Amino acid sequence: MKFCSECGARLPAPAATDAAKSSFCPACSKSHYRNPCITVGCIAYHGDRILMCRRAEEPARGLWSIPSGYLECGETLEQATARETFEETGAVVDPERLDLYNVINMTHVEQVCILFRIGLSREPRLRAGPECDEAAFMSENQIATLNLAWQPSLGMEIRDFFQQLRMGDFAIRLVRLASAAGAEYSCRSYTLMAGNAASGRR
Ligand SMILES: [Zn+2]
Repeated sequence: MKFCSECGARLPAPAATDAAKSSFCPACSKSHYRNPCITVGCIAYHGDRILMCRRAEEPARGLWSIPSGYLECGETLEQATARETFEETGAVVDPERLDLYNVINMTHVEQVCILFRIGLSREPRLRAGPECDEAAFMSENQIATLNLAWQPSLGMEIRDFFQQLRMGDFAIRLVRLASAAGAEYSCRSYTLMAGNAASGRR
């Protein structure tokens, strides 16, 4: 942020070591906080295929990803996930049926990404939205031939997902990812009780 959102005064450039800290406007004293963004992503699957889309915009234009995007103010995480999935692929998913899947600390891009999963009983009609130029359900073998956005971290997530899908046993995982290349990767799994996450819903 270069200018104060309150009074328009130019903000002093932070020292490199303080780039992640809050700053004060010298003119009106407003605090300018720097906080990570929250992004959401959806693994929607039908049988042994998951919903993928090819990005038509930067970043990662032309590369394949799962439907994902930024949480907007006033939305729940599940509503944002359903909205992004619809906007990017045309697939309607019920936010009430989304199960929490992964929480990913991504300090290198100042984001926390929350992934949800949802099993679909029938394949929805797809229509790529303005931010995508293609959307399709794909098998693990098909995905292995794609150029993925945010490789290798997304590739790792997808590989792990298919492994859990084959076992029919999902966990909620807390992941730390300190670089796009997967450096300082750590993952802690929280096993779900017998049945599925819906059994614990109130
Ligand atoms: Zn100001």
